Amino acid sequence: MENYALHQWPVESSLFRDNYQVVYKELTNWDESTLKNKLLNLFDNAKLTGFQNTPRAKQSFEGLSGLVYSPLYSLLSSTEGECHILTNCNVKGISKDGKNWKLEYINNRESKALLVSKCVLASGTIENSRLVRSLARTRKSIRNKFNKFKIYDHIIQGVLVRINKSLINLDDFVSDNSVVKIGNQIVRSNTFCSLKKSQNYYLLDIWGLGEQLPDQTHLQFKSNGTLPYVEVKLNAFDDFVLIQQVEEIKNIHSELMIYFNFSQKEVIFPKFGTAGFTYSDVLKKIENSESKMSCEPYYCPLGTVDHEGGTIPFGDSLNYDGSFLDTESLYILGPSTFPRMGAANPSLTNITLSRFISENYISK
Ligand SMILES: Cc1cc2nc3c(=O)[nH]c(=O)nc-3n(C[C@H](O)[C@H](O)[C@H](O)COP(=O)(O)OP(=O)(O)OC[C@H]3O[C@@H](n4cnc5c(N)ncnc54)[C@H](O)[C@@H]3O)c2cc1C
Repeated sequence: MENYALHQWPVESSLFRDNYQVVYKELTNWDESTLKNKLLNLFDNAKLTGFQNTPRAKQSFEGLSGLVYSPLYSLLSSTEGECHILTNCNVKGISKDGKNWKLEYINNRESKALLVSKCVLASGTIENSRLVRSLARTRKSIRNKFNKFKIYDHIIQGVLVRINKSLINLDDFVSDNSVVKIGNQIVRSNTFCSLKKSQNYYLLDIWGLGEQLPDQTHLQFKSNGTLPYVEVKLNAFDDFVLIQQVEEIKNIHSELMIYFNFSQKEVIFPKFGTAGFTYSDVLKKIENSESKMSCEPYYCPLGTVDHEGGTIPFGDSLNYDGSFLDTESLYILGPSTFPRMGAANPSLTNITLSRFISENYISK
């Protein structure tokens, strides 16, 4: 998480800096891409500065395509302590039962209930919000507050370039990891690039991952149990991110095309939210393209990248220790608790925060 976004968190960033470092160390032990990313050579050659290997938490094992880092991994493999995981369990709602929390859940198609003295909601942003909403039904004091939730997502748009292998040989630069250029407090968007190859062509993807500010986009649950509804409204700060992203993407695209010695047409970006220009629409179009060289801009509508957060944020609905409103026994974890998202992928902050709160508060 970037400092400019952490700045608006009520939780002191220094409080969990140590936890960031533990998680970062564990992640780098998992990361198999510490070898120099070959795509970086392309950026060096094209004199495009500021790019680095994208940190990631993925490892391939024999017979498995990929395994992603989870703090549960070290917990489950440790011989100390006990950890019980109830699988195939779907929590329908929570309520207060005397001093305990009552979790109503379905397990193997049977409805069951569990009484617990401490409860941690860590079921993802939308589900965390739905469970808080289910609680609001029986607690009048919070009903109005949790009728409508603020929500935000990362703002993503990019350009896909298909280059036929008959035009150029880029094999030396193809890499299974992307490269990234980190933004700043003015641009608030990180720019990524990846280069993959298929039998006949290379696929160059240049995209921006930017921060949407919590403001006018809302999530609402209907009482009839239908799917939740999101009302999306971008504000002037979000529009600024969109403009900056387009400029940065166009610039990188243009510099790479000059380096490859390809003539180029200006890339015209669609209005964010226009039908027919999503990543999957454009990927399909470009995969079926018959021209030797084609270039298509795209965007990812809010809600499609699973980086949604901010519905039950620290400061507003949560105390510094992650406990919910006036309780000391109901905790909430995950991106739903982020007061601001920043432009970084959320997992590292998410894991760090979970460790910080569980070590300092929940386990006590
Ligand atoms: C395709 C994809 C790509 C992503 N790429 C990246 C990336 O590259 N980098 C990055 O940093 N982040 C990435 N993210 C985002 C990241 O995965 C999320 O921010 C993160 O997983 C959120 O963690 P969480 O623990 O809050 O929720 P989750 O990981 O969603 O975990 C919630 C768990 O709760 C369970 N659950 C939900 N509801 C209930 C219920 N009612 N009862 C019982 N159990 C329930 C779910 O089954 C799930 O196991 C990606 C997400 C997706 C989907």
